[in-house]
Amino acid sequence: MKMKLDGPVTAGPHALLIAAIALTLPLAAQTTQSWDAKFRAIPDAKNIGEYMKRMSARPHHLGSAYDKDNAEWILARFKEWGWDARIETFDALFPTPKERLVEMVAPAPFKLKLEEPAVSVDPTSGQKSEQLPSFNAYSVDGDVAGPLVYVNYGRPQDYDDLERRGISVQGAIVLARYGNSWRGIKPKVAAEHGAVGCLIYSDPMEDGYYIDDVFPEGPTRNGSGVQRGSVMDMPTYPGDPLTPDVGATPDAKRLDIKDATTLTKIPVLPISYADAQPLLAALRGPVVPEPWRGALPITYHFGPGPARVHMKVAFNWNRVPLYDVIARMQGSTYPDEWVIRGNHHDAWVNGAGDPGSGMSVVLEEARALGELAKQGWRPKRTLVYAAWDGEEEGLLGSTEWVEAHDRDLREHAVAYVNSDGTGRGFFNASGSHSLESLVNAVARDVEDPETKMSIWKRAQARRILQGSRDERNEARTRSDLRIAALGSGSDYSSFLQHNGVPSLDLRFGGFDNSDGIYHSIYDDYYYYTKFLDTDFAYGRALAQVAGTMMIRMADADLLPFEYTDLADTVQSYVKELETLLKTQQDDVRERNRQIDDGVFAATNDPKRPMQAPKMEEVAPALNFAPLENGAQRLTDAAARYRKAVDAVRPSLASNGAAVRTINAKLLQAERQFTDQSGLPKRPWYRHMLYAPGFYTGYAVKTMPGVREAIEQKEYANAEAEIVRVANALEREAALLDSISSSLP
Ligand SMILES: [Zn+2]
Repeated sequence: MKMKLDGPVTAGPHALLIAAIALTLPLAAQTTQSWDAKFRAIPDAKNIGEYMKRMSARPHHLGSAYDKDNAEWILARFKEWGWDARIETFDALFPTPKERLVEMVAPAPFKLKLEEPAVSVDPTSGQKSEQLPSFNAYSVDGDVAGPLVYVNYGRPQDYDDLERRGISVQGAIVLARYGNSWRGIKPKVAAEHGAVGCLIYSDPMEDGYYIDDVFPEGPTRNGSGVQRGSVMDMPTYPGDPLTPDVGATPDAKRLDIKDATTLTKIPVLPISYADAQPLLAALRGPVVPEPWRGALPITYHFGPGPARVHMKVAFNWNRVPLYDVIARMQGSTYPDEWVIRGNHHDAWVNGAGDPGSGMSVVLEEARALGELAKQGWRPKRTLVYAAWDGEEEGLLGSTEWVEAHDRDLREHAVAYVNSDGTGRGFFNASGSHSLESLVNAVARDVEDPETKMSIWKRAQARRILQGSRDERNEARTRSDLRIAALGSGSDYSSFLQHNGVPSLDLRFGGFDNSDGIYHSIYDDYYYYTKFLDTDFAYGRALAQVAGTMMIRMADADLLPFEYTDLADTVQSYVKELETLLKTQQDDVRERNRQIDDGVFAATNDPKRPMQAPKMEEVAPALNFAPLENGAQRLTDAAARYRKAVDAVRPSLASNGAAVRTINAKLLQAERQFTDQSGLPKRPWYRHMLYAPGFYTGYAVKTMPGVREAIEQKEYANAEAEIVRVANALEREAALLDSISSSLP
């Protein structure tokens, strides 16, 4: 953290003390800053490439031989670089395919290939014997047949559209395209509507030749490429389906497989667009509207039928070991305060981009920190570096570790910094808004490899160019670039949303199109070094930015959290919720009027009939006052905290006891936003500000209890949730005030 030496200096009993300390301060400040500048000179792009090459040399999914081999290799590297490292093992349920069959039985027989062929120029794409076939993890077993229906992205609103056209998916197999919601949502919503099976395909519109040339000529998905992935109901809880809330240790109490609520209700398989095209081409029924059309050279119809599909999937329902590699560097002054960094090491197949690009960066950071330690540096706080296993299946390794260390983390965890696949282009940070100011400060000190300006400046330029008018204004005038909130999709979820540890997710991207090989056999070293961050210059930049953050969080005497940014964002969430309700009221009122006026009947095409939507009750007014008051109290408390701390900041460096007392409280600040009873219908998620959407998957819902109650039209719940979120804001404000009032 940068020392703020220009803060207001108060006259009074402490003025003398401050004056005395000020003499020694520039030296102290220089020391902290010179260590982190020294650190930034160490990471080497070449090493990052070598780690990636080694880790992605063979397929290394959870439970495979090379997954364990990589874990042991990572362990040996941490030790070689001076870290105190070990492997922590858990046991999680991981079904792998025993049988996969999809065939069209009418109007003409067609058996889907369900195979990704090796590509001759790509040396690891032919490692067939070690590759997991294409499948969706945590699909149930099933042998089903039925008429086929095309459901677009398979979101709730897509089924509303189908219903208005009188198309039912009851007893049908649905074909959904990837995109616009997380894949696990598609079978979940399909089952809610009575479908018996679900196929998910990659349409070239989002993921193929419509975007760019296909692999191996270009970077996008070719006709045979398939996106593997988990379909566990992660918005209910991530991690091992058999051990919610507790670490999956050998002796943990486990659910029966039949009682695990996060498995799908119907069988699911992902398919390529080469396999999907004959199915789509055989559908009849009405032609779909424009927003439903993909980029295949066919006319898209809804169905149902006459295409009939038979699908059969069966899995080995085994428990497999998770190998989490955990490395520590003991803190010299505050050893009981932990700053945690992590990335997963497991992949779907070779995983050079996901996760190798991020994992290699974390390793190079660990090497550089070890090097710094050899030069005489010691972190004041304890650093914990982690390489998680089983992320791809549903954040298994990180979730089980967090659940196993629940109490320790609540007591000791300062922050968690995550990365995963990363590429080339713009710096992107998402996460807890109490860390926004730190993120911005560090980003100003790291150079962009291509432009040589700071990565902060380049990110700002992009917002100015691409943002809305308001975003443009904000990017130009607000001192910090606002960071986005976190939903789900990588290993930060348990830290942030289950345990209330302030968390960040960092990456570079924006110039490369990595979707084309995402979760396929082609995500490998050949692809990465041909199309993505080919010389690892951005990998190096990520090591510099993440490592600098770790050093500043480890070494700042006063924890570098800042709450005025947070309060500002909280205020914006309250306004968003009020607007959401108002828009919902206006829309329903307008639609009801249109129904009453016979607008739908008058504009209906009798040859392609559509039912008018149903009349709905207009949402009642909700009392947002508790939320408005809570947000204002937090805003005031954050400003008071900042002023109080700035006034005494210079004297704090020499007052160890005061610093410890304040930090003990700051350590609990993000925890104030958690509520032990969790979110409605999903108690595992305890954070009142951030959660993945129940019907969007990865995408975040902020103030989720309130937002989702409004979206799902459960207005009584919305009022109750407003009070719970408001209480969380009040708790946070009270904690900050207790610090401010203890300062002179
Ligand atoms: Zn990943």
